[in-house]
Amino acid sequence: MMHHVSDEMLEDYVSGQLSAGWSLGVATHLALCPACRKRVQVLEAVGGVLLENIEPVPTASTSLQDIMSRIAEPRDEIIAVTPTSPTRPRGGNLTPILPEPLRQMVGGDVAHLKWRRLNGDVSQVIFETGDQTTSCRLLRVKAGRPVAEHSHGGNEFTLVLAGSFSDKLGTFARGDVELTDEHVEHQPIAGPDEDCICLAVTDAPLRFRNPIVRLFQPLFKI
Ligand SMILES: [Zn+2]
Repeated sequence: MMHHVSDEMLEDYVSGQLSAGWSLGVATHLALCPACRKRVQVLEAVGGVLLENIEPVPTASTSLQDIMSRIAEPRDEIIAVTPTSPTRPRGGNLTPILPEPLRQMVGGDVAHLKWRRLNGDVSQVIFETGDQTTSCRLLRVKAGRPVAEHSHGGNEFTLVLAGSFSDKLGTFARGDVELTDEHVEHQPIAGPDEDCICLAVTDAPLRFRNPIVRLFQPLFKI
């Protein structure tokens, strides 16, 4: 599913098999995407039925009709993620740019963070999730400006939180996810109207085409 979390990733999320970095990415997308929250509800319902069937239960409670009705029933308690709060944060805008659980993980909304410049167009905030297998950061790209062309040593999960960006795979706006891997080389360009802020989760360093950018990679941990 373009712009959403893949079926495989969502299943791994629901069954608790994603490491903390990917899990944070999925949870943040869920906070912004009612469609994927619905998919999680269905997966949870199916998972619950499968688990119940492992134990001996009266056959009457496991009819197909029963399973279908459980899937159809909204089960609010299984939504682990709170949608973006409409309340006004201290001194900030009406709606925070960073939804929970991301905001708490990085220690505030975008205006309160220490952004570190990578060049004139791009700055970042690297933060720890306690997950050694992934690297998590917020990236901020100036409106209308590109990120250096790169491919990937592994998987990259990019979730747009403000503004938008475009590359050869499409245009991505707030809430949209782009999943790329070692087969994709791209040059994202921020939309012209406002700075693009993204959550990026990677499990290997990016591969930049420009040798000067490569030279600075260890310094920027990108
Ligand atoms: Zn979605």
